[in-house]
Amino acid sequence: MKIAIIGTGYVGLCTGACFADLGNDVVCMDIAEEKIEKLRKGIIPIYEPQLKELVDRNAAIGKLKFTASLKEAVGNSEVIFIAVGTPPRHDGSADLSYVENVAYQIAKVMDGYHLIVEKSTVPVQTGKRVERTIKENARHGIEFDVASNPEFLREGSAIHDFLHPDRIVIGVSSERAAILLKKLYEPLNAPIIVTDINSAEIIKHASNSFLATKISFINAVANICEKTGANIEEVAHGIGLDKRIGKSFLNAGIGYGGSCFPKDVSAFVKISEDLGYDFKLLREVETINKRQKELFLKKIHDGLWNLSGKTVGVLGLAFKPDTDDMREAPSIDIINYLVKEGARVKAYDPAAMENAKKILPIIDYCVDEYEVARNVDALIIVTEWKEFKEIDMNCLKSAMKKPLIFDGRNMFDKQKMKALGFQYISVGR
Ligand code: NAD
Repeated sequence: MKIAIIGTGYVGLCTGACFADLGNDVVCMDIAEEKIEKLRKGIIPIYEPQLKELVDRNAAIGKLKFTASLKEAVGNSEVIFIAVGTPPRHDGSADLSYVENVAYQIAKVMDGYHLIVEKSTVPVQTGKRVERTIKENARHGIEFDVASNPEFLREGSAIHDFLHPDRIVIGVSSERAAILLKKLYEPLNAPIIVTDINSAEIIKHASNSFLATKISFINAVANICEKTGANIEEVAHGIGLDKRIGKSFLNAGIGYGGSCFPKDVSAFVKISEDLGYDFKLLREVETINKRQKELFLKKIHDGLWNLSGKTVGVLGLAFKPDTDDMREAPSIDIINYLVKEGARVKAYDPAAMENAKKILPIIDYCVDEYEVARNVDALIIVTEWKEFKEIDMNCLKSAMKKPLIFDGRNMFDKQKMKALGFQYISVGR
């Protein structure tokens, strides 16, 4: 099948590369010409395991192409995916101007039937607006369909997730659109759920909001554990073995961040409010998430007393491991607070330092964990990168001024850290 992907970011590029690998002819388009130039040269603009080999392999055989021309991308593509960003606006709603703009431009260059698919995460009823925009701007009489096909991949395991999804959601208003999308996804052998467009849009917002709710729930329970001497890991294990609840997303820590959960929860709250329903539950999820970071900062304050004149090392900057994405990363608020209080901050992240430097230019970036540890008054673990598990703790300890660690991700065994001579402060344990 001939496919165009409009917006070649984390989702657009991974989706395009995977569809190409499944045998389709894919053109990935982006307005960022520099990005397209890099991709043509085989330079991948994001850190994502397995992505480069997939792009290289399919670009080499001409199955995956890159362009900055929307007209060229739309060309004779049967299916056009919109994968542009939907960032949060100041009031929490999703900024849909990129989606509208793309819909308008597609309409202007359409020259025959196309299926236009929302891949971006959008609030319910966006499909209707996309359809209206296209109808108003396309040449009279041109046939088209609009569909919603939300994406559930996670950064850090995007390729695996795309190729092995739990389910594929297809929101359509015509049989023709359903047939096309089912055919496209057939090779994945995954359950396909066909719904109306509104339901598909809600499935995405509700899924992310539910996962965020699990995280805030376990963090709230972690706070009760701390006050009573219970251990959140044992509690989470005891809860998670119940199949109705499930083990995942029950890791207590400093809360969720990233380019999806914060904006999707707030967009779901906002669209609910616009529709006349006050989604108080989700507003509380947001409040707990914010407070979780504040509680962690309070622990750091209590442990270090005055931050002014102290040096603090930060391990991990990306919003989660295996990505270089810094959008809404908890490290940003934590580091800004430390700097505001007068601390000198040193940091290391295996992948996100280049992106972090644009947001946090005032701190010192180190080559590894041991350089971060040198002469610091305390270390803070913000992202649970696997490589931190392999740290030589004795080496780390001897580099530090004081053996004090604040672990926002509960990466290490509390007793073992104590036995090694660390003052080790984690979450809910
Ligand atoms: P991103 O910022 O990485 O990529 C968006 C891309 O769209 C950018 O490269 C930008 O230059 C391009 N763009 C903007 N306007 C354009 C236009 N008019 N024409 C062509 N390209 C244009 O964003 P992302 O993380 O890939 O997210 C895209 C959408 O997918 C969002 O709605 C997001 O919520 C959703 N989503 C993201 C993830 C994730 O893990 N990142 C997962 C599931 C769903």
